[in-house]
Amino acid sequence: MQTNQRKMIEQQYPLHWKKKNFSIKIFCSIPNIATGILLKAGDAHFVIDPGDGILRDLNKEIGVKNLLNVSDVFVTHGHHDHVGGVWSLLTYLRVMQKKSPLTIYYPDRCVEIESIYNAFKKVYSRSISYKINLKAIKKTNGFTANEITVKPFPVIHKEHLSTGKTRKVPALGYNFVYDGMKICYGGDTAYCEELVNHARNADLAILEAGHEEETPDEMHMTMKEAVSIGKSSKKYFLVHVPE
Ligand SMILES: [Zn+2]
Ligand SMILES: [Zn+2]
Repeated sequence: MQTNQRKMIEQQYPLHWKKKNFSIKIFCSIPNIATGILLKAGDAHFVIDPGDGILRDLNKEIGVKNLLNVSDVFVTHGHHDHVGGVWSLLTYLRVMQKKSPLTIYYPDRCVEIESIYNAFKKVYSRSISYKINLKAIKKTNGFTANEITVKPFPVIHKEHLSTGKTRKVPALGYNFVYDGMKICYGGDTAYCEELVNHARNADLAILEAGHEEETPDEMHMTMKEAVSIGKSSKKYFLVHVPE
């Protein structure tokens, strides 16, 4: 991508969208570095893609009391720039003696989340103050989490292997519906019909434009692809643009 094109979509984090009692704040979304998103619906707080720095950002934004009441975490896929903060988050909640349960939703076969969880359980087996529910999403049926309606959907995302080949990683996007409004977050994805369908008419679509070239690939979207989807929504943010 040309530098001038990239400048056009340069986003100043945090990005904030707020309607009545439904809001979302994207603290950061930089490929290979970190993502971190806070979703609020009424009095409930949810965390999406807790990458590196999420604990610092949440602590500053909502404080300890609200942090202890976070009920659900939604993970789109296991890349480090989306899960790098999970260990800190789990450990902090233990140190601060969280009592209410925490549910982590993630795509089935996302080995990163399960490995972090297993290591955490092993290290702190005698001092975890709260229940952690791991929910691997196998079927993309909608469900309700703490009064918010969630609809996960499959997206297309790949990663490089040491052999020079690529492999498809388990990856999801999520639609969040509350109070008649819909937020669509695609996570990391190539252009795909599922995302096109789920972003349509969303009150807010959060779309990655992480692919630097003009020619589409199967990892990220070009700016053109992301914009074409964004135009079908009421408002959109382009995120995950390389810096
Ligand atoms: Zn990413
Ligand atoms: Zn990724």
